[in-house]
Amino acid sequence: MNIILLGYPGSGKGTQAEALSAELSMEHISTGDLFREEITKGTPLGLRVSEYLAGGKLVDDKTVLEVISSKLEKPEIQEKSKEGEKSEKEEKFVNGFLFDGFPRTVEQAEALDSLLSSKKMELDAVIFLNVDEADVVERISSRRVCPKCSKVYNVISSPPQKENICDACGGELLFREDDKPAVIEKRMMVYKDLTEPLISYYHANGVFYEIQARGDATAITENIISLIKAEISKS
Ligand code: ADP
Ligand code: ZN
Repeated sequence: MNIILLGYPGSGKGTQAEALSAELSMEHISTGDLFREEITKGTPLGLRVSEYLAGGKLVDDKTVLEVISSKLEKPEIQEKSKEGEKSEKEEKFVNGFLFDGFPRTVEQAEALDSLLSSKKMELDAVIFLNVDEADVVERISSRRVCPKCSKVYNVISSPPQKENICDACGGELLFREDDKPAVIEKRMMVYKDLTEPLISYYHANGVFYEIQARGDATAITENIISLIKAEISKS
């Protein structure tokens, strides 16, 4: 089972992807987290993409696709998808990929289609997390992230136990540079221009599902899981 989470910046893709990947044993791939980790580590890739992230612009498709194909190249996953059988080592990958923040352009979506089909894999669902623009802007302003393990917090709705310290790894939580109001505005524009067309792209593919993503995060996770159980896993 391979699933894409789609939605505005701040619609809760990262939070939901983390909960769902744990619950459904899927491999969570967040291009945003991957880029932020490279930036924190100061790798050549990190240096190359940091300006894009800071400015709320999209990283070029070529770079994004290199990152994605190397993630899909994991031998465990290839083997699993070819042979369809479980072994201890493969256990945690059995249920495929959960894409969060990718694809973000029609070009990326087309490239993902061919990548998946070259690996004899299918896209089972695109789940659109529907929230109002005003809600996401408010959410983003109270978002904090752990630079070490990428866990996401919200100082109002899901604060860490100790103020500003990551529950999972003890890292010091940060306000993302690109969560500043001027950059958010840019990211919203980029989303509307380049990412929103994916809604009709996937509508046409017949794999599009929509979830109301307002309110309690745990309830939203449960709704997504029910949707997957009812609709997607039987097809
Ligand atoms: P959000 O979903 O809250 O906007 P992400 O963490 O997914 O945040 O992405 C942060 C930034 O990382 C984007 O603004 C962009 O610069 C870069 N990025 C992430 N994924 C992609 C992608 N698929 N294509 C191009 N740029 C990307
Ligand atoms: Zn952490």
